[in-house]
Amino acid sequence: MTSFSPAAAPTIGVLAVQGDVREHVRTLEELGVRATTVRRTSELEACHGLVIPGGESTTMAKLARTFDLFEPIRQRIKEGMPAFGTCAGMILLADRIEDGAHDQETLGGLDITVRRNAFGRQVDSFEGDIDVAGLDAPVHAIFIRAPWVEAAGESVEVLARVEQGPAAGRIVAVRQGSLMATSFHPEVGGDSRVHRLFVDLVTEER
Ligand code: GLN
Repeated sequence: MTSFSPAAAPTIGVLAVQGDVREHVRTLEELGVRATTVRRTSELEACHGLVIPGGESTTMAKLARTFDLFEPIRQRIKEGMPAFGTCAGMILLADRIEDGAHDQETLGGLDITVRRNAFGRQVDSFEGDIDVAGLDAPVHAIFIRAPWVEAAGESVEVLARVEQGPAAGRIVAVRQGSLMATSFHPEVGGDSRVHRLFVDLVTEER
């Protein structure tokens, strides 16, 4: 486990317009990075990487526009800022959406098509252990009205798939360059290993 001297610790922001912001901040702090909430462009500018949390993707996109953050985040992503989207955050990082709201906008960057609320109403929320590439023991993954990755471009690395049940084989974690996304909520449950993968990515890009 890496530990940072205070001067070397990267600053990682959590988009804080809506959603489960606090859990991400806490997990990042546990990993020794400087974690900060992002509601203004000045806060975004101070970040070496950005987490886009779970919540409601249409609301988050609209609020990001209201807070004048939408285009600046898009621009930073284009310039190579590492970003990590969980659940609704995965939807926001996707280039394409299936079952999105009419005219639903995304920040984009990941060459994936996500299906919103993919697991259907019967299995609104569920939990399961899944293997994640780069981690040596399974992650207990919590899915809450989650998307899955319907299709991924060639440069997208699949980090995890659902292992059992009717959705077996569906892609639920990906990485492409400095972008990462999970359908599930790694900030819930006290396991910081998926965030560690993102912190490593931010550290490499710095
Ligand atoms: N269903 C939500 C959406 O489409 C995502 C749910 C979540 O982030 N837990 O935005």
